[in-house]
Amino acid sequence: NKQVICRNQFIGVPKESDMTITTSSITLKVPQGLKAIVVKNLYLSCDPYMRGVENSGNDRLFYAFTVDTPVVGYGVAKVVDSGSPDFQEGDLIWGPTKWQEYSLLENLDSLVKIQHKDVPLSYYNGVLGMPGHTAYVGFNEICSPKSGEYVFVSSAFGAIGQIAGQLAKLMGCYVVGSAGSKEKVDLLKNKLGFDEAFNYKEEHDLDATLKRYFPQGIDIYFENVGGKMLDAVLANMRVNGRIAVCGMISQYHLDQPEGIKNLVQLVYKRILMKGFRVYEYNHIYPKFLETMLAYVREGRIVYQEDVNDGIESGPAALVRLFSGENSGKGVIVVARE
Ligand code: NDP
Repeated sequence: NKQVICRNQFIGVPKESDMTITTSSITLKVPQGLKAIVVKNLYLSCDPYMRGVENSGNDRLFYAFTVDTPVVGYGVAKVVDSGSPDFQEGDLIWGPTKWQEYSLLENLDSLVKIQHKDVPLSYYNGVLGMPGHTAYVGFNEICSPKSGEYVFVSSAFGAIGQIAGQLAKLMGCYVVGSAGSKEKVDLLKNKLGFDEAFNYKEEHDLDATLKRYFPQGIDIYFENVGGKMLDAVLANMRVNGRIAVCGMISQYHLDQPEGIKNLVQLVYKRILMKGFRVYEYNHIYPKFLETMLAYVREGRIVYQEDVNDGIESGPAALVRLFSGENSGKGVIVVARE
């Protein structure tokens, strides 16, 4: 059973040398009497929360994982043996499966059984899984969007940003995205249907950049990056604007988070700024899935994946997520069936 093991705690930006590939043995049968399942991992998900390890010492993480054990992450997997009446051999599931070829899973409540298999299965790591659900919650539940509003999405070509921006377009909003390369900017405009997009790495005055794209100001900001971008956005929000604070990837590696100068704009412009965690909205996952499946099937939402072949590609894929060298939702193909 090949596994990606976390060798030591991540300090600063994760490095490939923080992880290693090992092989261990695993029995593919659930031990007698244990309410658990054994799964074969097919597609593993590469997500920013995986950067967190136990050294963070706060509530930053969804799943803390321990040095010398497999990296914790979501995946799409096939059941090969079941000790639970709720799962049968051959069932497909998604949820926290860990980065290894086969996993013994005991926390069965955290798993979602895949019922609709007419779409790419890897999408349950992305547009139909946690990232898509996060975009849906942040945009629809937190931002209360209305047709015609002006929407800005940062890390717009990321796993979540792609969906947040396309949901905004479907709502009839004017949507601008920021991303870290020309290729991503072109894809945002030409493939995902954003009205405008810009490469934030080439902009030296983000305040002026936002004024150029939003001369009338921003109604909704879908926040993925934090730091300087948030500060510039605050200065460009409209009265009664809304900010869904999904994440702040530019801040995760810093010992001291960057200061925000323009926070007082929350008062002046009566802006609502709300952080959220997707797992508190599990109750609306079925509604989300029904909506998003229809959009995907009809081609009204498209999704770009950053596909990495083989479990050995996992460490490099995770590192690339934090440098922006990835392009789209990070997926590691372990097996196709
Ligand atoms: P992404 O796919 O967007 O993450 C990777 C991208 O982030 C990179 O490709 C890069 O794109 C960008 N990035 C990396 N470092 C920086 C930086 N220093 N400054 C600006 N951009 C950077 O990830 P997700 O879509 O999965 O997640 C988006 C955000 O949502 C993250 O902050 C994540 O932590 C958060 N999150 C929140 C959840 C919740 O429940 N609230 C659930 C899941 C995720 P580029 O080329 O544009 O630089």
